[in-house]
Order: sequence, then structure tokens, then C-alpha cells
Amino acid sequence: MQFPGAIQAETSVHQVPGFSSEETNRIAEQTFQRYTAESLPKRKGKGVAIVWFRNDLRVLDNEALFRAWVSSEAVLPVYCVDPRLFGTTHYFGFPKTGGLRAQFLIECLADLKRNLLKRGLDLLIQHGKPEEILPSLSKAYGVHTVFAQKETCSEELNVERLVSKSLRTLALSSSEGQSVKSKSTNSTKLELIWGVSMYHIDDLPFSSNSLPDVYTQFRKSVELKSKIRSCIKIPSSLGPAPGVGDWGCIPEITLLGLEKAKVSKGMAFVGGESAAVSRVYEYFWTKNLLRTYKETRNGMLGPDYSTKFSPWLASGSLSPRFIYEEVKRFERERESNDSTYWVLFELIWRDYFRFLSIKQGNSIFHAGGPRKVEVNWSQNQTLFDAWKDGQTGYPLIDANMKELLTTGFMSNRGRQIVCSFLVRDMNIDWRMGAEWFETCLLDYDPCSNYGNWTYGAGVGNDPREDRYFSIPKQAQNYDPEGEFVAYWLPQIRALPKEKRHFPGLLYIKPVVALKFGKTKIMNNKTMASTADENKWKGRKGNRTQ
Ligand code: FAD
Repeated sequence: MQFPGAIQAETSVHQVPGFSSEETNRIAEQTFQRYTAESLPKRKGKGVAIVWFRNDLRVLDNEALFRAWVSSEAVLPVYCVDPRLFGTTHYFGFPKTGGLRAQFLIECLADLKRNLLKRGLDLLIQHGKPEEILPSLSKAYGVHTVFAQKETCSEELNVERLVSKSLRTLALSSSEGQSVKSKSTNSTKLELIWGVSMYHIDDLPFSSNSLPDVYTQFRKSVELKSKIRSCIKIPSSLGPAPGVGDWGCIPEITLLGLEKAKVSKGMAFVGGESAAVSRVYEYFWTKNLLRTYKETRNGMLGPDYSTKFSPWLASGSLSPRFIYEEVKRFERERESNDSTYWVLFELIWRDYFRFLSIKQGNSIFHAGGPRKVEVNWSQNQTLFDAWKDGQTGYPLIDANMKELLTTGFMSNRGRQIVCSFLVRDMNIDWRMGAEWFETCLLDYDPCSNYGNWTYGAGVGNDPREDRYFSIPKQAQNYDPEGEFVAYWLPQIRALPKEKRHFPGLLYIKPVVALKFGKTKIMNNKTMASTADENKWKGRKGNRTQ
């Protein structure tokens, strides 16, 4: 785990990507140039089309935007600041969007607006529910079609249904007294377009409902039988936009009912498509880190052990197909090895969780998960608060939870460890953890979040993904010098390295004992007794990591 100058870095903030705004703009312009179509079929559409931006806050490889452009004479880009996104989580009432993700979203919107303006459009930002805003805009501008990216989870599907219904109601009310023939031509259509995954849903070798229950089977099948579509090239000008008097403002965070949050330590991600393509450029081309991704990806400290693409993927400011094309270009121009492939391997996990959300529906949000496993979970508030505030007495857990609170990010290794600790060592209802992640994560996405949590809690569709993460073992393997814990818990830095993970009386008293704890704390090298482990295996969890 490399993080040169860790001690001085403790108070500094690592901006991701690490470019100035001028450099970021230059890299984004160059990337857009490469993806600008030199010759496109003539635009034959008529009238006005809306592109309703949701979790696809980008210009590059955005099929909804492209289809709106092709099918119209004028495109009206719209973003609705939906108050439901700033309500509370489903079961436990945490803020649905924390301050850091809200700030990231604001930056995404500002960048999208700038990039649309450069191409002859603008972004109309309105506060309210899409099912109220879109019909009223459709009426005002005589819109024939609203194009938007298709989602897969219940809250987003519900909004799609409401928008569709209100557009139909609008058509009926405005056509009252007209002939049957003109009634049918009056309505504004909602066209939902797939754009969220690397493999297109229509190119899968099976229907979503018969998706394999094992990731490896899914991966092997798509790798063998499906092709990844090319990115959609964009015309150099997307204009004109219809004449709009007031384009609205990028929301201030306080208007969303949240306080301005600033990252004081660790990584500060810059929102927006320009930053997203710049991060790809930085990770692949400037720092050459794609070459070694597979060896470093399990790190926890600093910006460079993994790609950090996830916040932009979740907001849709980065297209997974663009990453695929950049990996292929890297393989052609620099090197092709296990690491270059492994980024795609991980993106296929992301696709898999997306498609699973279709197959499994709301069961991914239920306590028993897709397999309807019955577990007597506790909802002990004191224990949960200790976990979420990073006060458990286990430095590895506390450091990870503090990173999440401070930056909105946590490594994949960290997420697996804190999830296992919450559900297995604390026996706390995994949905509390998942909802806390929903609040805090910059990269929150319902499919990847709840999919991974169901796996971590042993209620996912594949029981083989059910694992216990042993803190001593994880500490030994992934933070052997205690640099990560010392970074997030400065009081620990003064301790000898071998004590940093188990500081005893020099740190907070552990709030629970580890399931395999005693032997571990006394002797760092031995695993829990076989009898203990088997007892645990019998109950849940079939692998100790
Ligand atoms: P890299 O290692 O560089 O991987 C490249 C990309 O592959 C990631 O950006 C991501 O899009 C995808 N990816 C990698 N691992 C996974 C995975 N296990 N599942 C799905 N996609 C993956 N990821 C989210 O994007 N949103 C979430 O809400 C989310 N919640 C999680 C909750 C838990 C309990 C766990 C264990 C994992 C969760 N993940 C989630 C997956 C993973 O931890 C993050 O995608 C990853 O840490 C992001 O960092 P990165 O971009 O540097 O990843």
C-alpha cells in the first residue's frame, strides 16, 4: 500500500483527480474531440424533445441525449431536483443523501451545464417532482418525446410510472373534445433507454429473469457470447435549444436542507464528467496505474491503489463503455496483462448487480434477502452508533468508518471488513449498515450497495459469497504496518507498529468481542479454534477471510 509521505499527508487533502481545473477542462475537451462524430446521418427529427437527466449526468456516450437530438429540431435538457432524494432512508430514517454526495451532485450538474453550453444547449434545472415538472414543460414547449435513462429499482421505477401516467393524463386533458385520431397524436411519449451498464441488457445471452445465480457463470457467459457496444459519438453541436426564459440555478446545498460539507482529510472527489474522464486519463495514462491494478486494488490508503471511478459511474458522469474502450486502447498502445483485464472483471460485477436487481426485485432490500434467510438480527442502537461513528474500539473498523464520514468513500476491502464486523461480530441488522452507506457513499447505487450487503450478510443469492472477515487477518494482510489506521486515528501513530491494530488499554475499549477473538488477540498468528470456526460455519458464513 503506497502512500508516500504518509505523515505529512495526514492533514492534507488529496483531490481526485489531482489536476487543476484548467488541466481537467483541457483533458475533457480532448476526450470530447475524440468522441465527436465527423459525419453523422442528417438530423431528420421534428419539434422539441426533452432529455430528462437522471443518473446519466454526461454528454459522452449518452444514448438518451443522442436520441433526443436525432428525433427533434430542438432539444430541451432538464434535471429535476427531486425532494424525495433528500428525504430519509426506508427503514431507519437516515438522511437519504448526505452532504458530501449532495455536493458531488451539485458539481456534476454544474459541469454538465458547462459541457452542454459548449455544444449549443443548456441545462434547465427545476426543483420538484419529475411527474409534475415534465408534463408542464411538455405542454409549454409542445414536446413530442421525453427521453431518459432506464432504471431498475423500485423507487426509480415508481417515478418512471408516475411520469408516464402524468404525461398520459396531460394528453387526455388537452385533447378533450378532439377527434380520436388527433387524440392519439397529441400525447408526449416517455422513452426509457438502457445506458447504465457495460453490457447492454438487450445483448445478454439470457433474459434478466433467468440470470445465473453465480457471478462466474454470468461473467463467462457474457464474455463468450455478448459484445460490448461502442460508445455513442456526439455531434459537435447539439443545438439549438428551444427559447427558455429562465434556465434555473444550480442548487445551493443549503437549499437541499443540508449543510455545506468540506473534506478536511483524505480524498476529495471532484464531481462532473470533466473530472471523470480526467481521472481515467490520470489513472491509465499519466500514472500508468492500470498496469498494476490487480496487485494494488485491495489497498486502503490514498488515491492510487484502485481506480476510484465509482462516484462518477454512480452519477452517470462516466460511461462504463468509455472505460472499456480506454482499457482496450491501453492494451493496444501500452500493455495488456491481468491487471488491465481485471478492471473489466470488476465492471462486470457492477453489471451483474444491476441485472440481479431486475431478477430479484425488492428482495434485495428485505432482511432475509433474495434467499429469504431467517436471522434474528439485533437493532441495538448503541452498538450501531459505535460502528457508524468509528468508536468500536477496533482501529481497523474505526479508521474505515471515519474515512467514510470524512470523505464519502471507503475502499472495497474496508467495506467488506466493516460489513462483516457489523453483521457477524455485532449481529446487527445488515439493513442498518446498508442504509448508512446509502446516506454517506459518494458512489451509492442501490444495486451495488444492497447487492454487496446481501452477500456480506449471507442473505444474497449466492451462499458461497457468505464470508467472515477476521480483523487480525485482514490487518495483517492489508495494513501490516498500521499506516492506514494511524492515518485516520492519529492517536495511534505514536504506538509501535505491531500494537496499532490491537492497542489494548491505549485505545477505546472494544464494544464487542470478536467471534473468533480470544485466540486472535492473544496470538496474532493463530486462527480461531477449529471448534469455534465450525460452530460459526454451521450458523452462517462459510468462509473465513
Ligand atoms: P475499483 O477496484 O477500481 O473497481 C472498478 C469499478 O468496478 C468500480 O468503480 C465499480 O464500479 C466496479 N466494482 C468493483 N468492485 C465492485 C463490487 N464489489 N460490486 C459492484 N461493482 C464493483 N460500489 C458502488 O459503486 N456503489 C455502492 O453503493 C457500493 N456499495 C458497496 C457496499 C459494500 C458492503 C461492499 C462490500 C461493496 C460496495 N460497492 C459499491 C462495491 C465496491 O466496494 C466499490 O465499487 C469500489 O470500492 C469502488 O472503488 P473503485 O472505483 O476504486 O473500485
